[in-house]
Amino acid sequence: MLKIDGAMGEGGGQVLRTSLTLSLVTGTPFEIEGIRANRSRPGLLRQHLTAVEAAAAVGGAVVEGAELRSSSLRFAPKGLRAGEYHFAVGTAGSAGLVFQTVMPALLKASGPSRLVLEGGTHNPSAPPFEFLASAYAPLVRRLGGGLELELERPGFYPAGGGRFVARITPPAGGELRPLALLERGGEVEEREACALVAHLPRSIGEREARKLVDLLGWPGGEVRVEEAESSAGPGNCVWIRAKWPYVTEVFSGFGEKGVKAEDVAKAAVDAYRHYLSVDAPVGVHMTDQLMLLLALAGAGRFRSLPPSLHARTNAEVISRFLPVDVRFEAEEGPGRVWSVRVVSREA
Ligand code: AMP
Repeated sequence: MLKIDGAMGEGGGQVLRTSLTLSLVTGTPFEIEGIRANRSRPGLLRQHLTAVEAAAAVGGAVVEGAELRSSSLRFAPKGLRAGEYHFAVGTAGSAGLVFQTVMPALLKASGPSRLVLEGGTHNPSAPPFEFLASAYAPLVRRLGGGLELELERPGFYPAGGGRFVARITPPAGGELRPLALLERGGEVEEREACALVAHLPRSIGEREARKLVDLLGWPGGEVRVEEAESSAGPGNCVWIRAKWPYVTEVFSGFGEKGVKAEDVAKAAVDAYRHYLSVDAPVGVHMTDQLMLLLALAGAGRFRSLPPSLHARTNAEVISRFLPVDVRFEAEEGPGRVWSVRVVSREA
């Protein structure tokens, strides 16, 4: 049984989730200790437990230690099963992260799957729905997988209750194809920014929209306010979407009690500007998510912003399960551009 140290590198939930995904894909049982050891509330929270349960359902796994606040887990999958699944976090924990745990494995299953996911859809420290639908899903499709996402209602902290549907189709022939994503491919082709408000005064969204127009210098028609009546509770998220010929990225900021609306808008703009400051197509958050997909394809490469500790940790977990190396190579010269390669050790 493969042993994984949950405290390695970043020591967060990603170590567990990536281990679950790759255990499902490879059929390798694993044991993890020190789950989320570097977090202020370590161990399995509702969202992580739901990811474990989801992975167990998809892989018919035998599991020990799947309890709230548990710091260790043993997970032994028996075989991937495509099909219809419903996974509910039960709190405002991120449903998107549960989805990202099982989706790559279902790309390797013998047929299409449909997932209904419930929980938070717009959480800080997790990919918001628009990131998954507009930035992540197109890259999955470039790799040959089928992925369609549909938001039924948003869910915010603390009420949760968001819901989205994912339709996953394995690639023709069963294998993902390697991807080289080295540049954005030219000028922005499409862009929009949105201030999403749920059960809060519309004026919050309007202030955010004004700040977005002010900071981005975009015409008002590209910036909108959306009121999410269907949300179970109050919440606020600002997102910016920009599409280039080869890549789409989404940058977000989240409303919180005590944080001014203008600062929520500014957080999203700062993330966008940080991305633009480096001439590379893959942003900070996409790096760790994309390297896992390329590792499943067996090879690939992309150019990115400097990799986060998150990304480096993910690379280490990947290399424990798969016969690939993930290499980070800093290019000489100005620009802070990194090249990330997934290389088969067998080649
Ligand atoms: P962890 O903190 O270990 O639970 O992992 C969080 C995951 O969410 C990582 O894959 C991050 O790259 C991703 N993530 C965090 N914030 C964002 C964001 N604003 N947009 C997209 N992905 C995000």
